[in-house]
Amino acid sequence: MSLTIKAGDLTIHRIIEQETTFLSALEMLPTLTPEVLAENRAWMQAAKALDAKDVLILCFQSYVVKTPHHTILIDSCIGNDKPRPNRPNWNMKTDDTYLRALAAAGLSVGDIDYVMCTHLHVDHVGWNTRLENGRWVPTFPKAKYIFAKTEFDYWIETNAKTPVPPIVDSVMPIVEAKRHEVVGDEHAIGDHVRILPTPGHTPGHSAFRLGRAKDDAVFSGDLIHSPIQALYPEMSMKFDVDQAAAAKTRRSFLERYCDTDTLCCTAHFPSPSVGRIKRRGNGFSCEAV
Ligand SMILES: [Zn+2]
Repeated sequence: MSLTIKAGDLTIHRIIEQETTFLSALEMLPTLTPEVLAENRAWMQAAKALDAKDVLILCFQSYVVKTPHHTILIDSCIGNDKPRPNRPNWNMKTDDTYLRALAAAGLSVGDIDYVMCTHLHVDHVGWNTRLENGRWVPTFPKAKYIFAKTEFDYWIETNAKTPVPPIVDSVMPIVEAKRHEVVGDEHAIGDHVRILPTPGHTPGHSAFRLGRAKDDAVFSGDLIHSPIQALYPEMSMKFDVDQAAAAKTRRSFLERYCDTDTLCCTAHFPSPSVGRIKRRGNGFSCEAV
């Protein structure tokens, strides 16, 4: 399996931190019925998206994209040394998988010009920071961290009421280090990086469209988690903050890219995680390339 993909003048690297079972399909997808699960079990298992106990398998990864001008890291995954008592696989972990994957792609933390988070959930901001002498410091010392304004404002406000651990340890230290930039939906980086607002999973969730003048690749973040949601776009996920908006966003996103050349780089689909959107009945599928 190649972890490096070319698209137009982009080079895309997958930086995998974990690929493992997450929650049971019926728990994670509240509108999924046992009957529909049974109809889809065989192909979901063949795609390694479902295990023998009907637990969904997810990949947790970053993408690093090299444009002719910049090196951009999209979603910073889970991170080390972070207290996540509800997630044993993530809690206070100290493995070197992520940094080794970065090195295997020929990259060091100093190479990253921009970090962009599709949203500010725990598994998308983790490596924003790392622990150094008891303090959280930016992992990518030269990077500017780009946060979408709606998303940033939502979490700053939420965190002010009740501290949200990933905001406390993986976002606020970036703000305090003055490494961040809060941007509107019209923001672009050169002629290669554009934002597509995709609200629902979180209020300011954004997909990122990369490519010179056209979308050679789109990074969909958590507007979709599992391939079964491509086939049934209305099937929202337990943690979608606004389930109805997430469903609407999911269908319109899949429709937008259906039968185009754009590579859809999902955050959580099992490997290879990347494909082109094709129509399948009243839904879609993401076909590996
Ligand atoms: Zn996620």
